[in-house]
This record gives sequence, structure tokens and C-alpha cells, in this order.
Amino acid sequence: MTPDPYQPDLNTYRALLESTKAIPWRIDWKTMTFSYIGPQIETVLGWEQGSWRSIDDWVARMHPEDQAWVVDFCVSQSQSGVDHEADYRALTSAGEYVWIRDVVHVIRTEDGDVEALVGFMFDISERKKTEQELERLRKELEVLSFQDGLTELGNRRLFDKVLSREWGDARRKRSSLSLILVDVDHFKEYNDHYGHLVGDDCLKKIATELLQAAARPRDLVARFGGEEFAIILPETNAQAAQTVAERCRERIEQADIEHLAVPEGKLPRVTVSLGVHACIPAGEGSIREFLDATDRCMYAAKQQGRNRVVWMEAV
Ligand code: GH3
Ligand code: MG
Ligand code: MG
Repeated sequence: MTPDPYQPDLNTYRALLESTKAIPWRIDWKTMTFSYIGPQIETVLGWEQGSWRSIDDWVARMHPEDQAWVVDFCVSQSQSGVDHEADYRALTSAGEYVWIRDVVHVIRTEDGDVEALVGFMFDISERKKTEQELERLRKELEVLSFQDGLTELGNRRLFDKVLSREWGDARRKRSSLSLILVDVDHFKEYNDHYGHLVGDDCLKKIATELLQAAARPRDLVARFGGEEFAIILPETNAQAAQTVAERCRERIEQADIEHLAVPEGKLPRVTVSLGVHACIPAGEGSIREFLDATDRCMYAAKQQGRNRVVWMEAV
């Protein structure tokens, strides 16, 4: 008799099921026992085919963090007769975990009762690894997108974000918020004299000094642009901010970075000019005005001879 291709015999079914990479299985709903599981399970997880007896064996060989939600989810879906799938970590006989995607079909009796669950387990470890790597890269990219490549300080983007957050916070709490703008003195001459690469190194040293001068956990030292830096000091009044600014100025002077191209009569060292402004944000003032006012203080420090701090408190 010629075989009917639409009615394959049991051996053909078995060969088809057991030659796939996916692991087929069947669970009898009433007894919660495996009525079948493909021999491939041993290749993937190491446990013998015969060791999968009840649903408890399945749960016990699952990562403890996945057990509760996977069981709850699969049982409730099955009870409602809904086909479903779940990703979880299955334990291997060697004590490691393999990511499995279990795709489940619910078989019901004519009365609509659940009779059995059938499904396939897919080894999705490689896919998970790729997903996790992508997630790690995404996080890294996010960090990098807020970081200045040269000094590794926060960049302008981070500064804007943090300032806006701290502004809102200070406004709600009616607390004092301070800002310091730092600009390197005669830096054009420094670059011209020592070269751009030495100029870069100088900016890195300045960044390190500033980080040490403003070291409270919520303080933010950022590269504002070019040879300008900005420091956000939450919950800090004008006097305290002025002290921090003076500490920045001193640290940089004492870092003793030679600068022989300064105008006649000036200290042959790299110095900075700083503008400090503090306020309790209220309805009228805006972040923009706050920044402008700080910038004007910095400019005044330049006008008054550089290597100094000029500060102003909003009235
Ligand atoms: P002032 O004392 O008035 O601040 O004078 P200045 O020379 O510092 O000011 P100016 O704004 O004329 O020059 C800033 C210089 O900073 C010019 C620019 O080439 C340099 N600069 C900006 N960004 C970088 C950088 O990333 N690396 C280096 N090496 N130099 C930079
Ligand atoms: Mg400048
Ligand atoms: Mg400058």
C-alpha cells in the first residue's frame, strides 16, 4: 500500500518531532505529569529524558527568580484556555542556566475543559546574549552621550538636564541653588604657546581640580564648552558657593601649571576666573536669567584682572 502523505504514520511523526532543535513535550492537565518529552531535552539541559515526570520537575529546574511568575502565568493562561509563551532560565544538570522560550498550546475536550498542554521549548540563549549585549551597549551609549570625551566630566547636555531638575527641586523646597562658571585665563595664548594637545592636558588637570573642590554627592561639575566649566551646587547659599569657588581658584593656582605666555606682569601660571550666582528660584526668574547673571559675574572677574571670584546673590 502506498503511504498517504497526509496521514503519516507514528514513526514519521516521531522522526519529525525528534529531529528538530526545539524540544516537544506534552503535559496531562489532570495529573500534571509529562506524557511526553523529546529526547533532545538531554542535549540541551543534560537531564535524562526519563527524569521529567511531573510539572514539579519542570519548576524545580527553573531559576528561582523565574519560578513564581512563570508558574502563575502559565497556569492562569492554561486555565483560561489561552495559548501562550514564556521565557525563563532553565537549570542544566551541570548547574548552569539556559534561556528557554516555551511555546504552549492548550488542548481542550469537547466540553471545553483543559485536557493537556503541548508545546515546544526553544533554546534562546544566543538571542538573549545578543539582547543583553545590546542593552549593555545602550546603557553605555547613554552614559557616553552625557559625558565629555576629553575630561570625562558631564557635558553640556547633562548640565542642562541637571540644572533644570535642580531648579525645579529648589523651587519646590524654596532652597538656595548656586551656580559657578569657570573660565580659563589666557587660554588662547596657552594653546598658541604650548600647542593644542598640551592645552587638552591642561583642561583635564583643571577638571580634576574642580571635581575635588566641589565634592558633595549632589554637586555637578560639567564641561560647559571649550575652556569653560560649570558647577551646580544644590542647597548651597551664596556664601558657601563663594567658598567653593575660591577653593577652585586656589587649587588651580596651586596646581602650578606653567603658563609663560601670559601678559607682562601676570603670574606665569594657569589661572581661572569664576562667576558665582545664588538664588532661591521663584516664579519670576528663569534658568536663562540665572545663567546670564552668573556669566556676567564671570565676565566681571575677567574685567577686574582675572584669577578671581566675583559673586552675586539674587535679591
Ligand atoms: P580669557 O582670559 O579672556 O578667557 O582669554 P582666553 O584666551 O582664555 O579666551 P578665548 O575665548 O579667546 O580663548 C579660548 C581658547 O580656548 C581658544 C580655544 O582654542 C581654546 N579651546 C577651547 N576648547 C579647547 C579644547 O578642547 N582644547 C584646547 N586645547 N583648547 C581649547
Ligand atoms: Mg571662554
Ligand atoms: Mg578663557
